[in-house]
Amino acid sequence: METASTTPAHIKGGNFLIESRRPEEIFTPEDLTDQHRLIAQTAQEFVDKEIVPRIHDFERKDPALMRGLLKKAAELGLTTTDVPQQYGGLELDKISSILVSEKMAREGSWATVVGAQAGIGILPIALFGTDDQRSRYVPKLASAEWLGAYCLSEATSASDALNCRTTARPSPDGKHYLLNGTKMWVTNGGIADVFVVFAKVDGEKFTAFIVERTFPGVTPGAEEHKMGIRGSSTTPLVLENVPVPVENVLGEIGKGHLIAFNILNIGRLKLGAGCVGACKYLLAEALRWAKEHLLSHGGHGGLAPGRDRSGCAVGGQTNPGGARAIRGRMFDPQGDGH
Ligand SMILES: Cc1cc2nc3c(=O)[nH]c(=O)nc-3n(C[C@H](O)[C@H](O)[C@H](O)COP(=O)(O)OP(=O)(O)OC[C@H]3O[C@@H](n4cnc5c(N)ncnc54)[C@H](O)[C@@H]3O)c2cc1C
Repeated sequence: METASTTPAHIKGGNFLIESRRPEEIFTPEDLTDQHRLIAQTAQEFVDKEIVPRIHDFERKDPALMRGLLKKAAELGLTTTDVPQQYGGLELDKISSILVSEKMAREGSWATVVGAQAGIGILPIALFGTDDQRSRYVPKLASAEWLGAYCLSEATSASDALNCRTTARPSPDGKHYLLNGTKMWVTNGGIADVFVVFAKVDGEKFTAFIVERTFPGVTPGAEEHKMGIRGSSTTPLVLENVPVPVENVLGEIGKGHLIAFNILNIGRLKLGAGCVGACKYLLAEALRWAKEHLLSHGGHGGLAPGRDRSGCAVGGQTNPGGARAIRGRMFDPQGDGH
């Protein structure tokens, strides 16, 4: 689906800060196309109808509930904006992806679960897999028949991911790699069907592997008891002599960092949008509460009706233009995110 903006070429990244630029060269909400607005509206309606009424249910950490919601989101294409159409995705631009991320951030557990599926769950294989790997895994992940997870962190190497201890040893017959180690804090670990696992071949060459939950020796550990986003699953993944077929090496041996870090880069872009989205919801809710409790009850608490303490108008809305302008400058709207 084509969603290219008809406005002039935009400035890359934060260059607007150091270059002399005209206002029309800076991306603003007015530059959004009808298709951008449509996918944002679809995401908003999904969240209002399917997520908001279930927020309290998320505390139960019910795998069936999350799976069902992911399937519904997938049917609308909300988990596949970055996935090629050939493999069941919508293949939209990055503006569409971040609009969806912004809307999904209404509730943290859901944002985590759906963000992981749409990003670190699907994209390593969708963007870096061979045709065979993509055909085998991406359509199932795109429809959310299967859920995906991304296993980079370990207890002693998370920020310092390349120092992982998980190993991959070639089997004597050359048909498999035997994976050993424990990955930590795997989002959707308790419900995922397929894991992208990073391990070192011969203890040296950092490499990505596609590991199915049903492979012998794969054991998701106990759920972490988190202080927040409690509706999302976060578990270790224990690998004990797991035979991974050589066909499931993702990318090149020793080049796993290209996959690990590019996928995280896309995640950072979308997390930024999610944070802006969550702030906007929060501000809207705070304003709603303030208007109800302070203004309509006659006691203005020092606020003049319709104004906040800084003197800005409070028309019951947040300032999406400002938020989007900040977010729009975080990335090159014309780029492909690689
Ligand atoms: C809810 C949740 C879900 C997660 N999901 C996943 C997942 O799906 N897959 C996955 O692989 N991982 C996942 N993680 C792990 C996450 O990626 C790590 O928590 C993250 O990489 C940070 O690692 P750490 O917690 O060990 O912190 P540390 O690496 O111990 O860092 C602690 C602090 O020190 C700082 N720091 C670290 N190194 C340096 C340095 N060299 N110089 C200066 N400052 C430094 C960091 O910025 C941070 O502030 C998840 C974590 C959480 C909490």
